[in-house]
Amino acid sequence: MEQANQNTYDIAVIGAGPAGAVFVKELAEARPELKIILIDGQSSDSAKPCGGLLAPDAQKLLARFNLVLPKSVLEDPQIFAVETIDIQQKLVRYYQRHYLNMDRFAFDQWLLSLVPSCVTIQNGRCTEISQGENGYLIGIKHNNADTEIKAKAVVGADGGGSVVRRTFFKPMQVQYVAIQQWFENKGQKAPYYSCIFDAKTSDSCSWTIHKGNHVIFGGAFDKHECRRAFEAQKTRLEDFLGNSFGEAVKTEACLVSSPRSMGDFCTGSGSIFLMGEAAGFISASSFEGLSSAMFSGKMLADAFTKGTSHGEVQKLYKRSTRSLRRKLRMKSIKRMFLCTPFTRRLIMKSGLQSIQPYEKSKFGQS
Ligand SMILES: Cc1cc2nc3c(=O)[nH]c(=O)nc-3n(C[C@H](O)[C@H](O)[C@H](O)COP(=O)(O)OP(=O)(O)OC[C@H]3O[C@@H](n4cnc5c(N)ncnc54)[C@H](O)[C@@H]3O)c2cc1C
Repeated sequence: MEQANQNTYDIAVIGAGPAGAVFVKELAEARPELKIILIDGQSSDSAKPCGGLLAPDAQKLLARFNLVLPKSVLEDPQIFAVETIDIQQKLVRYYQRHYLNMDRFAFDQWLLSLVPSCVTIQNGRCTEISQGENGYLIGIKHNNADTEIKAKAVVGADGGGSVVRRTFFKPMQVQYVAIQQWFENKGQKAPYYSCIFDAKTSDSCSWTIHKGNHVIFGGAFDKHECRRAFEAQKTRLEDFLGNSFGEAVKTEACLVSSPRSMGDFCTGSGSIFLMGEAAGFISASSFEGLSSAMFSGKMLADAFTKGTSHGEVQKLYKRSTRSLRRKLRMKSIKRMFLCTPFTRRLIMKSGLQSIQPYEKSKFGQS
């Protein structure tokens, strides 16, 4: 009996990315009497593949939390513009950007360090969730050992490949495989930060970003033959830039969601809640998702603070994320214009909102 109580929680949160960490931090501060467990198996070897760029919306949220970013989270160099390249149509434009270049794993670890000590943090991967008599049974695997816990409510903050969403709800209509390769920075030509389009190899976008002594090339590709498309695009980009990236020191991949309609957003039902990318909260035009993850985490924490039943929490949470869903729906419309070669050509040719670099001083090293 004692053992059963020890393993029973009010809320089990699967995933300690920005959505999970913010949710748990905010809720545990507001309602320390709740028994919360946060489950995640992330380590520096299995860090989330990410560009690690903190967009203005995410910066604004940190300001609203009255948080300041430690210098140790920042990466070298900081960037002021994105070089937008259409390989197939041979177009290049520069647009001003106000992003912070970060070490994504360090950012996640910093957010996690803000979680109050009354929260149980469990290392491991959630392997399955099923409905029990008075709540949910959650299977966890860690170091080849299996454990099981019980929870009255489950919060899925487990990203694009969400096991919670897969188990209980309709999947996203469109998901790509995001592949990133890291190369040693040997002075090869590669823009400090670029957004790359190449209709021949993907109907989505790719990017290069410099991080300390490394250059990252990554992109989002159709699940079918994603690796072949990635390699083909890398070769085409290398030809475009006029040099090779060299030997990759690290290759990482994960699913990334691309919401296309309001039906792709799912905040949960009953005693199961979804946040961040698991809920479909990510920009389809840029894959910016940190702001939506943190915002939805805060909104769900507020709903749990005010709601007196899981049903009421669902209602409050759905209502408070309405503006986010609308904003992200607009991003999916923007995506249509950016990812269609004809409209992209018109936008890039028009020069609208672009900046003109001075002669011989292109941004980045291309
Ligand atoms: C390649 C790539 C580049 C991106 N670049 C940017 C960028 O530059 N800027 C930006 O704002 N957004 C970017 N995004 C989007 C951003 O990474 C996500 O939208 C954001 O991380 C979502 O936060 P989250 O907390 O919802 O999920 P995640 O950050 O994905 O966190 C989910 C957590 O759940 C854990 N988890 C998953 N499954 C399980 C399980 N079964 N059991 C236990 N734990 C589990 C994972 O270990 C992870 O820690 C990028 C995405 C990709 C794929």
